[in-house]
Amino acid sequence: MTSTALPTTDDLRARARAALENIGADVAEGSDFPARTPLTGENLFGLTAATDADTEDAIAASRTAFLAWRTTPAPRRGELVRRLGELLREHKSDLADLVTIEAGKIRSEALGEIQEMIDICDFAVGLSRQLYGRTIASERPGHRLAETWHPLGVVGVISAFNFPAAVWSWNTAVALVCGDTVIWKPSELTPLISVACDHLLARAADEVGAPRDVHRLLLGDRAVGEKLVDDPRVALVSATGSTRMGREVGPRVAARFGRSLLELGGNNAAIVAPSADVDLAIQGIVFAAAGTAGQRCTTLRRLIVHRDIADTLTERLTAAYHKLPIGNPFEDTTLVGPLISPAALDTMDSALTRVRAEGGKVLVGGNRRLAEAAPAAAYVEPVLVRVDEQTDVVREETFAPILYVLTYDTLEEAIALHNDVPQGLSSSIFTRDQREAEIFLSAAGSDCGIANVNIGTSGAEIGGAFGGEKDTGGGRESGSDAWKAYMRSATNTINYSSELALAQGVSFL
Ligand code: NAD
Repeated sequence: MTSTALPTTDDLRARARAALENIGADVAEGSDFPARTPLTGENLFGLTAATDADTEDAIAASRTAFLAWRTTPAPRRGELVRRLGELLREHKSDLADLVTIEAGKIRSEALGEIQEMIDICDFAVGLSRQLYGRTIASERPGHRLAETWHPLGVVGVISAFNFPAAVWSWNTAVALVCGDTVIWKPSELTPLISVACDHLLARAADEVGAPRDVHRLLLGDRAVGEKLVDDPRVALVSATGSTRMGREVGPRVAARFGRSLLELGGNNAAIVAPSADVDLAIQGIVFAAAGTAGQRCTTLRRLIVHRDIADTLTERLTAAYHKLPIGNPFEDTTLVGPLISPAALDTMDSALTRVRAEGGKVLVGGNRRLAEAAPAAAYVEPVLVRVDEQTDVVREETFAPILYVLTYDTLEEAIALHNDVPQGLSSSIFTRDQREAEIFLSAAGSDCGIANVNIGTSGAEIGGAFGGEKDTGGGRESGSDAWKAYMRSATNTINYSSELALAQGVSFL
């Protein structure tokens, strides 16, 4: 199905301007850096990218602000994040408009992204009163041993196009309460939403009396990101994007002994066992595989189905895929919006060519839609492909809505297939057999950072830590104790006796 007509670029430009105006954000128009919309594939405005001098100024100002911010009591730092959360609530609809216009997300997913930002602000405000270390039993009389957590420094946040605002908030809300300052280099594909978020945070800072330079925004392409990566004044580089990007960033930050937090690509799978509740599984699979047009890091890309139910399940999935409404993401009925660019469509097409050559059978989808109405955009039908083996192309992350369906006979075989990819982000099993579910979650089961039961691979809540292993980079963000990546710990030994006792019984003098 193709849902109703697309808006024009003029409509979208007017809508983006209205959203920015409501938020109160000024867009300094320029010519060297375009803001574009994947809905029509056309440019909305020209902006100005940061120069080397702007980057230098941001790093210096951020470092100075850190020196004041680190000694501001953490619950007072929480006041800034509380105010940011209030402003996000107030402007939720306008912010969601910008996410749809720039990233192509359907309305409910765009609103969901802003809700996630509100949620992490709430979490971080609570966290601002819980940044605690432990007290450890000392081997020496009259001594106390303690672990203290201190602010780390300037945090460089480099983010991807597909969560253009939420990833920033996971990092920024937590980093700010931890006493760090933040410099954000958003995706070059989504500058407008970042201008809006930066404006709201600046407003919150003014209102609560926090230093303005606790946050700086630098628009630009990867060259701007590279400056943050190489600068020793940036204590932590938190980079979200492709594994290719992480391979470049990780070693460069390590070379200067900086800290990096990498959130990279996924190649997420679900196992569907014979006992699965098939109705529930179908809903979970279709959302995880086709939602966000297959452009989530947690998108379901491989389905590993027990041979006994594979035909029935694929028939039902094929029928569901035929009915997916594709088109204008602002329409309430649309479930699949555009890919981010025609280049993403080319990458998808070449993966489909490869998998066909390797014996894969396309069951449904893969045709381009709305090519006449929007020749510069990339609307496409999500695809289901039945494959016999996990070939090279199946083991890669193609950032598009392709779901490869494999079959298995034993759970052991399914888990081996599941883990036999370079990435390790998200995973799930659909089963009503508790034994199988527990094996999947055990040390011998899924090797991913996220492992779910009877729910798809995407759509995590902020309360848990988010991230994955292997080529996904090993970072953890958001909830649980992910905050520790944004702080440094110190071990303190305090002698409150009148004797100097040396550890390990050493005697001296
Ligand atoms: P990308 O790697 O092309 O770009 C991501 C960001 O990195 C951009 O801001 C870009 O300018 C910057 N960048 C690229 N190369 C750089 C370099 N050498 N030095 C410094 N900065 C550099 O990714 P994308 O296409 O925007 O996003 C899609 C990818 O992101 C997918 O692989 C997806 O799985 C991944 N992703 C991962 C997570 C996660 O949490 N694990 C979340 C969202 C997206």
